[in-house]
Amino acid sequence: MAEEQQKKKHKKRRTATKAAASIGPMVKEFIAGTIRAREEGTHKLAYTFIVCCHEEILYALDVLPVWTENFAGVCGAKRDAERFLQRAESLGFSRSLCTYALCGLGFDQWREELGEMPPDAPWGGQARPDFMISSGQILCDPRSKWYQAAQQFMPDVPIYNIDLPYPLFDPKRDHREVWGYYHKYIVKELRGLIAFVEEQTGKKMDYDRLKELVELSDKTWNLIEETYDLRAAVPCPMGTGDAMNTMVPLCFKMATQEAYDFFLNLREELKEKIAKGEGEVPEEKYRLMWGGGLPAWYALSDFNYFNSKGASFPVETTYRMVAPIHEMDIPETDDPVEHLAWRWLGYWTFWYDKARKRPGSEPDVERLIEYIERYKIDGVVMHEAFSCRTWHVGLIWQLHQLAKIYKPIPVLMLGEDGKEKPGKREIPSLILESDIIDITSYSEVDTRNKIDAFIETLESIKKSRIG
Ligand code: SF4
Repeated sequence: MAEEQQKKKHKKRRTATKAAASIGPMVKEFIAGTIRAREEGTHKLAYTFIVCCHEEILYALDVLPVWTENFAGVCGAKRDAERFLQRAESLGFSRSLCTYALCGLGFDQWREELGEMPPDAPWGGQARPDFMISSGQILCDPRSKWYQAAQQFMPDVPIYNIDLPYPLFDPKRDHREVWGYYHKYIVKELRGLIAFVEEQTGKKMDYDRLKELVELSDKTWNLIEETYDLRAAVPCPMGTGDAMNTMVPLCFKMATQEAYDFFLNLREELKEKIAKGEGEVPEEKYRLMWGGGLPAWYALSDFNYFNSKGASFPVETTYRMVAPIHEMDIPETDDPVEHLAWRWLGYWTFWYDKARKRPGSEPDVERLIEYIERYKIDGVVMHEAFSCRTWHVGLIWQLHQLAKIYKPIPVLMLGEDGKEKPGKREIPSLILESDIIDITSYSEVDTRNKIDAFIETLESIKKSRIG
């Protein structure tokens, strides 16, 4: 079944916005840019991970990041990951590990063995790095172990590991009591990274340039929040399918003018669509939230399938790795490194105050509740990708917590005429299961059957609300 799916000519996902349609060339260009830089020796290249609070430092020292998760995702989206996964397995790595890491390791070993890119490497391939920056945050084991494994094939390429902790949520304790300690530690880690990159590049950090880049990212964070909030409009002008494209400038181009301009254009495009009453789907019937889980990159057209049933996705938690800076209660500082550390802590503790106010709640659940209300959500969809334990642990628990709040019990609701009517406030959920890039874990038929059944549930709840 899976092989047939791979061989079958895969239809590209239709996008709702011009901005999302422009992402393919952007990704191609930044991958090509790293390959050019390698050939021409213009920049040092660093393998690294998203959400590590360090883009500004790399760009300020003229280092180009090679986003290894991105390249694996590209292989997955092109349905061309299997040969790299199998190669990694033949080297003794288990298929149950993170498949991004497996794909990257299979690719790297092949490239190093050949001394050139493997045949027909997706979008030109992944360039050999000068150094690798791993990270010890958010319990993701591949973030610290992947590059150590890659060193077997590239023993001359050094690694710098950056540790990025944040205080865990404690309902009885204000995180501000301890975050000064975390801040000190993170600043030390970031200064260590700067010293390492200075040594690797032979350049000295220009702190004015770093400050400009940090300010540019701050502006972009706020702009993204403002832009994504426009999606609360009814009908919704842009869904999660498109957001899985617009995550590219958010996660891979932060601290660049290109990312800022991209979101300026997207904001204008969404405003125009709202003014014209243009939705992601022509007749919006259901508003869904992608409540967690990385997507199956080879099956993004499932979003079009949801759309064909009148379901739109105004919001997602996945890859929305920003929060409004002006709403973060973080101390002001002129030092860009200190600010980076505060912004990191501000982001990871952003929902803590709200969660403390609701007994039994948790920050991740509070975020879901806030989005359900703000984006007028009828149902929640999550994806359990088997090989990424980091982002997927706890998703089902979050749904259980939500079910305690949005119970299928009769309540009084305001009708269109402004009068109270009996109805039910219930938020059904759907859990899809497969993987980020391992297509052998996916069945289109089963997935679509599940979606059909979920749509039927949404329809019957809608009817009971009206009744
Ligand atoms: S385990 Fe998950 S978060 Fe970690 S590298 Fe793999 S896909 Fe990314």
